[in-house]
Formats: sequence, C-alpha cells, structure tokens
Amino acid sequence: SSRTDFCVNQMIEEAVEITRRQTAALGATISLSPAPGMPLLHADRIQLQQIMINLIVNAAQAMHEQPEGARRIAIASYACEAGLMIEVADTGPGIGDKAHRIFDAFFTTKPDGMGMGLSVVKGIVEAHGGSIRAAPRIGGGTLFQVKLPYAATRI
Ligand code: ADP
Ligand code: MG
Repeated sequence: SSRTDFCVNQMIEEAVEITRRQTAALGATISLSPAPGMPLLHADRIQLQQIMINLIVNAAQAMHEQPEGARRIAIASYACEAGLMIEVADTGPGIGDKAHRIFDAFFTTKPDGMGMGLSVVKGIVEAHGGSIRAAPRIGGGTLFQVKLPYAATRI
C-alpha cells in the first residue's frame, strides 16, 4: 500500500476544494469544524480523499430539492477513543428506509447513478481498520461518521 503520515484536516480541506465546483453548482455551502492538534493519520491519503469526495458529492446531490439557502454540509473532525472521527452531515431528505442498502454495490436511487460510491468508501474504511455509519439527524438530513483507529492504521 502507499500509506504515509499526514494531517487529516489538510486532506479534508483539499477534498472540499476538489469538489468545490460541483457543490457550488448544486447550491450547497460547506462549513468546516476541524479539531486543533489532531495527531497525524497513517493511511493512504488518496483513498481517504476518495472517501471525502464521495461523501461530499453525495451530500450535495441529496439536497438538490431543498430550498436554496437550506443546502448545508457540515464537516467535522475530532479525536475519539483510540482514533479519529470524520463527520459529514447534510440537510437533505435523509436516508429513511434505505439505510440497510446504501453501502451495497450498485444500490442507487439516482437516474444516472452507479451505486458504487458508498461501497468503495466502506471498503477503504474497513481496509484501514475503521468503520462507517449513517444516522438520521434531528430535524432532517443525514450524518455520516467515519471512525479510523490510530493503531490499526499503522500497518
Ligand atoms: P450513487 O451516488 O451513484 O447513487 P452511492 O453508493 O454513493 O451511489 O450512494 C448510494 C445511494 O445512497 C444513493 O443513490 C442515495 O439513495 C443514498 N445516499 C447516499 N448519500 C446520501 C445522503 N447524504 N443523503 C441521502 N441519501 C444518500
Ligand atoms: Mg455517490
């Protein structure tokens, strides 16, 4: 593998810039809440960026029917037990009864979707010894939580 030590908050900022054109076109605004003083992550940086790009684009696409000004993506990072947490939250319609299928390969509700994004994301997270979950937010929307253990990433 090509794992290096890097700052997860810089990686997140880069993913936000890479997706900027697409999120702007969809009318989504993005806020960042990076925890200061986070330890470096030992991981495949390109693969971690793939995770962020997928979650950000999904969030923006999910909100296309929300009123303008109500399309918000909130990204946070912080240290948690034995690792770090990255959160991507949106103000979209939520995942409802699709929750058990969204990580399946080829599951999509989009007319031109491929349904590969979240299955690839889950594979990358698990290859790094981590876990991912999607939870409904109070007041609507979805929260994706990616948990990456420090120890298991030191491969
Ligand atoms: P695709 O984006 O090609 O549809 P994904 O694997 O990325 O494939 O997502 C699978 C499905 O999960 C989407 O089609 C959508 O129904 C649902 N989904 C993913 N992210 C969100 C989100 N943030 N809000 C609501 N539904 C979502
Ligand atoms: Mg997708």
